[in-house]
Amino acid sequence: MIRKLITRLLGKKSATAKAEGRRLEIARPQHEIDATRLPNSAVTVVRTLQQAGFEAYIVGGAVRDLLLGLKPKDFDVATNATPEQVKPLFRRAFLIGRRFRIVHVMFGREIIEVSTFRATLDTQASATVEGDERNARDLAGRQHAVDASGRVLRDNVWGPQDQDAARRDFTVNALYYDPTRDIVVDYHHGLRDLKARTLRMIGDPATRYREDPVRLLRVARFAAKLGFAIDPATRAPIAEQAELLRNVPSARLFDETIKLLQTGHALASLEQLRALGLHQGLLPLIELALNQPHGEAFVLAALRDTDARIGEGKTASPSFLFACLLWPQVNNRWAELQAEGLPAIAALDTAADEIIAAQAERLAIQRRIAVDMREIWSLQPRLARRTPRYANSALDHPRFRAAYDFLLLRAQTGGAEPELANWWERFQQADEAERAELIEQAGRASTEPAQRKRRRRKKPAVGSGPDSAG
Ligand code: ATP
Ligand code: MG
Repeated sequence: MIRKLITRLLGKKSATAKAEGRRLEIARPQHEIDATRLPNSAVTVVRTLQQAGFEAYIVGGAVRDLLLGLKPKDFDVATNATPEQVKPLFRRAFLIGRRFRIVHVMFGREIIEVSTFRATLDTQASATVEGDERNARDLAGRQHAVDASGRVLRDNVWGPQDQDAARRDFTVNALYYDPTRDIVVDYHHGLRDLKARTLRMIGDPATRYREDPVRLLRVARFAAKLGFAIDPATRAPIAEQAELLRNVPSARLFDETIKLLQTGHALASLEQLRALGLHQGLLPLIELALNQPHGEAFVLAALRDTDARIGEGKTASPSFLFACLLWPQVNNRWAELQAEGLPAIAALDTAADEIIAAQAERLAIQRRIAVDMREIWSLQPRLARRTPRYANSALDHPRFRAAYDFLLLRAQTGGAEPELANWWERFQQADEAERAELIEQAGRASTEPAQRKRRRRKKPAVGSGPDSAG
């Protein structure tokens, strides 16, 4: 009522009010959130903020997943308290972020992310930055900054909840839950879309993709993860705006790619990316992997395997995922270098160096992850050398388990002998005496064909060279 009156009095403001949506408070039984499934940590954060006189809600993916009966990955809280007001209310709280300042409240190993309501972006009033983010930071006093293409570089202007809702990406991601009053707050008919299983961008989709091109990837991720249909207006501008992904800093692209691969729906996400026309040259890593000779079978098997692992509640490490995605290229380069006369292990090291360096400019792979990836690869030819020295030291290697899983994928897709994978399966379970016997068996089996080969031409033993079949 009052709101309407103000809107009428201000006249000019009505367009904005419409963009920000009308507040709906939805009580049980119109929503079916089971408050007993909320972790104490999230409820404590909300209650503490409310008791200090602030508004506070659980927000975003957790509310969406609870409404869908899925288990939320993590819990985020949104509040009208500023980060500086939030921090002193908790014993272990840390201010983080620059582009997007938030507070992490720690409960043991659990982190609750608390973000302050953001104001809607007024692109006209924002500082436009020609060039990079360093320049943007130099513009003191300006908390909104966009680059020449309209991409948001900084986003730290606080505002009321309705504005916070309007600047979230999809209607189903803009739902707020207040555990104290047991209500869902909805400004953009998110609950309606959730029930219709539709992914709809809030506001004008083309503008929203321009503000943050990562949203293009998020469409694919959520459509795949939730099994939702993409609203036609949300889908329409995607193919045309795919180019915008080139503006995204490589570190953010890396983060978003990891999220996409670790949803448990990596394969479906990839299909969505292809269907939306986003794979062409945009995720160069995936595109290249699929275009390598024999690359597609391996990468698809790797993604299927990752999805299955996550479905079983296991983890899929970024290093394993990227080792898989880059393997088709590394493997082909490995073959070339060996054909030029380099020995197997040196050729693999060189191939790894070259491929990691070549793609780093588009997708920044952290050093720590790159080290792990290289270990997974370099264990591959070592796993093929079943001598007492190599076999036992491989087994003790901290990356053995990942390297073995990797070998299984290669064996599944014709890149390694299934016999080799079986042998390692048995070797891991064997006691000391059985291990010695297995090594001896492997030695016997390999000498005869190896001798024959040696007479013909110097060629690496089966399994120690690049994968040839797909
Ligand atoms: P997931 O379960 O995969 O974590 P999520 O919805 O929680 O899904 P996050 O990436 O964790 O996704 O983001 C949390 C919330 O922040 C989203 O639900 C959305 O409201 C908002 N958000 C995140 N990224 C963006 C973005 N690029 N543009 C607009 N809103 C965003
Ligand atoms: Mg989340």
